[in-house]
Amino acid sequence: MRGGELVEALKMRALPEGSNDYLALLEFLKLYRDAVQVAIDRLWSLSEIPSIKTLHMMFYSELRNRGFRAHHVKQIYTYAKTVVKAGKRNSGKKPVLRKLTARVDRYDYKLDLENRTLTLKIHNNEEVILKLLTSIDRIEKYKEWSNYEIAVKVVEDEVYVSVYFRRTVKSRKTRTVMAIDVNFDNVTLAVFTHSGRILRLKRFETPLRKILTHRIWIERIQRRHSRSWRFARGVREAIKKHGDRMRNIEWDYTHKIGDRIAEIANEHHSTIVLENLDKLKNNVNRSSNFNKKLSLWFYRKIQFTISYEALERRLDVKLVNPMKTSSTCPRCGSRLEDSGGRVLGCSRCGFTGDRDVIACINLFYRYSRCGGPGVPLNASKGDADPRPMQRKRDEAMKPSDINLYKS
Ligand SMILES: [Zn+2]
Repeated sequence: MRGGELVEALKMRALPEGSNDYLALLEFLKLYRDAVQVAIDRLWSLSEIPSIKTLHMMFYSELRNRGFRAHHVKQIYTYAKTVVKAGKRNSGKKPVLRKLTARVDRYDYKLDLENRTLTLKIHNNEEVILKLLTSIDRIEKYKEWSNYEIAVKVVEDEVYVSVYFRRTVKSRKTRTVMAIDVNFDNVTLAVFTHSGRILRLKRFETPLRKILTHRIWIERIQRRHSRSWRFARGVREAIKKHGDRMRNIEWDYTHKIGDRIAEIANEHHSTIVLENLDKLKNNVNRSSNFNKKLSLWFYRKIQFTISYEALERRLDVKLVNPMKTSSTCPRCGSRLEDSGGRVLGCSRCGFTGDRDVIACINLFYRYSRCGGPGVPLNASKGDADPRPMQRKRDEAMKPSDINLYKS
């Protein structure tokens, strides 16, 4: 698919227009919650979750008789289905709903952004009117978007509304390809012309070692207080402090890097090529190694922010199989050997280069060979001059003198 879909939620407080609106909304949310609970109870005892068609037959007329609209019914059993699925996967204990929250799809509400008013169709063909408490500025962005669903909830007598907006983005024509390799220490990107010349190289450090340090602290504290840590307040707080710190570093980094990388891709009009992490998933899930799990999770987050920022700039993102991309010679396809530091060498054809850059080159080739424009199958052979890559790591990262593959 070219392009994709951007989805964003706009969350805000809302004020019911009159007390009647508030009471009616409250009653609707209670009925809704109870209906979802009934559906959960019934689905929980089944050995398998039925298809949507069967769910429809199970609940449609009953819920319609309770005064729900047709699309309410659909939302209710779909929601129940997700809750049951998650419950069986996690704890095995039947979920009991307490919160007053409902998802309503676009057939059952009318959103007037201009006047910041939401009219909600509830049970028994009644309507409630909510005033949305948010600034014009926040709404401005979404005037060109369409909205397809809202979530309403009441928490401690306050009403909150989330509106889900989406916008289809058609990707633009690109001129270059940016391959991105992520490993424990670095995120490395290389921008290629379609004929394989490197235009730009950049390396960012990851904060994974910093994150690990906090993790090690947490484990140390837990070990030292092996019995009491769950109960002692000071210990719990110390653990929480490290946990918060980890989360802040992750959040900060992933958002910044997504933006930076998409900006560079924007400058070069690049199609972005990322590793298809699903191909690595099975190896990692089987390993108990915390580092591996942490890094895979982290790569996913980075990829998500890169993809999202790229889509906002109308740039395509493609995934390719990353197997052995950092151990295969990009020139002759032999297995590379470690030449010290982060440098790898090929004993068959003499090629040497920086490990991360090699990974980027191989990602670029995989993309080019499976449907990307321009590069013929034999482009990696021939008169390419690998020597610029032979220098020290930092020098090898200078984009100006790298011209690996003549066009
Ligand atoms: Zn080789």
